[in-house]
Amino acid sequence: MIRGRCLCGAVRFHVTAPFEYAGYCHCTRCRASSGSAFSASAGVRREYVQITSGAEYLSSHLRNTDVTSHFCRCCGSMLFLLVRDGRYAHIQMGTLEADPGIRPQYHMHVASKAPWHEITDTLPTFAELAPEAEGKAPT
Ligand SMILES: [Zn+2]
Ligand SMILES: [Zn+2]
Repeated sequence: MIRGRCLCGAVRFHVTAPFEYAGYCHCTRCRASSGSAFSASAGVRREYVQITSGAEYLSSHLRNTDVTSHFCRCCGSMLFLLVRDGRYAHIQMGTLEADPGIRPQYHMHVASKAPWHEITDTLPTFAELAPEAEGKAPT
């Protein structure tokens, strides 16, 4: 079990199963909502994420038909995205309070990455969605 929280601590959650995948997303929406070059998120089935306090402070923003971002309306921290018909949560790794064990495995949406950011590691890159994040990776 790993704990997560927003910047102000109003919203807290638990993740009760190991993450299945993790990666960096360079899409314009992740860049805008994080205010940074990319976001780092880790995927787990939605039922393993429990909001333990502050559910009333959790707001959501419909990014597109299949992605809803959830954030603290007190401090603005983006906490997780619900994707794939709400079956999976992509937890923003910066909100986790301990080492989740998993490490980001890919860069995705690099076709829309910030021109001022250079990827300097050797992880695989995907122009758009990574197969893992789409639920299409071979198991
Ligand atoms: Zn907050
Ligand atoms: Zn993104």
